[in-house]
Amino acid sequence: MHRKTTISQRKETLKKLLHVLTLREDAVIQALHDDFGKSAFEAVLTETYFVTSELKTAIKKLRSWASDEIVFPSVLNFPSSDRIIKDPYGNVLVISPWNYPFQLAMLPVIAAYAAGNSVVLKPSELTPNTSEIVSNIISEVFDPIDVEVFQGGAQVAEKLLERRWDYIFFTGSVNVGKKVAQAAARYLTPVTLELGGKNPCIVTAQANLKLAAKRIVWGKFVNAGQTCIAPDYVLVEASVKSRLLQSLKQEIIAAYGERPQKSPDLPRIINKKHWERLVGLIEHHKVVHGGQSDVAELFIAPTIIDESDLASAIMKEEIFGPLLPVIGFSDENQMDNIIGSYEKPLSLYVFTDDRHQADAIIRKHAFGGGCVNDLLSYFANSRLPFGGVGNSGMGTYHGRFGFDTFTHKKPISRKANWLDITLRYAPYGNKVSLLRKWLKWL
Ligand code: NAD
Repeated sequence: MHRKTTISQRKETLKKLLHVLTLREDAVIQALHDDFGKSAFEAVLTETYFVTSELKTAIKKLRSWASDEIVFPSVLNFPSSDRIIKDPYGNVLVISPWNYPFQLAMLPVIAAYAAGNSVVLKPSELTPNTSEIVSNIISEVFDPIDVEVFQGGAQVAEKLLERRWDYIFFTGSVNVGKKVAQAAARYLTPVTLELGGKNPCIVTAQANLKLAAKRIVWGKFVNAGQTCIAPDYVLVEASVKSRLLQSLKQEIIAAYGERPQKSPDLPRIINKKHWERLVGLIEHHKVVHGGQSDVAELFIAPTIIDESDLASAIMKEEIFGPLLPVIGFSDENQMDNIIGSYEKPLSLYVFTDDRHQADAIIRKHAFGGGCVNDLLSYFANSRLPFGGVGNSGMGTYHGRFGFDTFTHKKPISRKANWLDITLRYAPYGNKVSLLRKWLKWL
């Protein structure tokens, strides 16, 4: 049951959460390593830092986000004073995935609680160590009436979805997202869906190829490619394709060495099912670099594939692993057609030193968000909304956008009694001409 909390209570609890997270950071890093070999560096950069930084922002800004917004009244209603009241929705269900199991569970919980809701979190069953520590931290900090964790797999999530919620926030695959939307429809519950897709990364002949390759290798192979906003495939202008391939190889070796299985910086694939799926995607392709795998360690090397067949399996589904197909294009039309043949992606990236070219590309295509001359980094700015469009999702969060997502904006117009203009009341008689004159004047 939802219970109302004051802004001061919320701020105090968020401060307590920040304190506990600081104490437990090493344990979170260890859990992420135990779950799929994430390095401490990536755990801090892509998981714990985001959560503490979001918390600090929420603590600092909560009072201003939550206060009533006074707006200029409409002259039609004169005399009145108008405001927007920030109301929590009530009971919120958050379902989170395994690939950034700490960050993607905690960020929506923080935003939903900061906005005054009660929250139930169902974290992923595929990262048991991280989900356990998330559950422990939450039970240490929050009253279970305010935030509670239910652990388990699809069945637990389905059971939770049978209940009536005031808001549902889901992060995960498109297929499960559709089931969540169907369940939400039963009670017309509003939803945010943070989903995935095939994110293009465009490299034009005007790009700084060496730097582009370095950044692509970082953004693709961080978390072993198991990142919803990772580039799924590279579209490179044919005239510079072989130079880009060469630079990509060099950068992979520079980052992970000649024997990437020995690198402490490359996480493992989450489970055998996904490992088998990914190894299957490599088969029958021209591997330019990498391609090695080892089921005992759930290891797959950073792999570059020279791809020309858009009908191949690797170009049909979201890859979600350390495989990067590189496709040449001869003109912009061809590039547009390839991007347009997929559903609207979560992210799009373009590498070029030509500002006009970059602008034309980012304005032409529909996608959740993206970068020019970089990968992933737009995610890190909490002043930017994060979320997909079309098949890659609906709704946004991060920073203030998260608070707004979990807030019903209740408009109130308070009419004064000292004056009552009678024009609007029936009988209207021939008041229409007076009304027209008046509206013109407005
Ligand atoms: P998933 O959809 O398999 O699982 C996500 C969550 O849904 C888990 O907690 C899982 O237990 C639960 N779930 C599974 N079956 C369910 C069902 N039938 N009903 C209700 N809940 C169910 O996704 P995943 O494999 O954990 O994550 C990978 C996917 O998530 C990729 O497609 C990726 O692009 C996407 N993703 C998106 C974002 C984003 O911010 N947009 C972030 C991370 C991952």
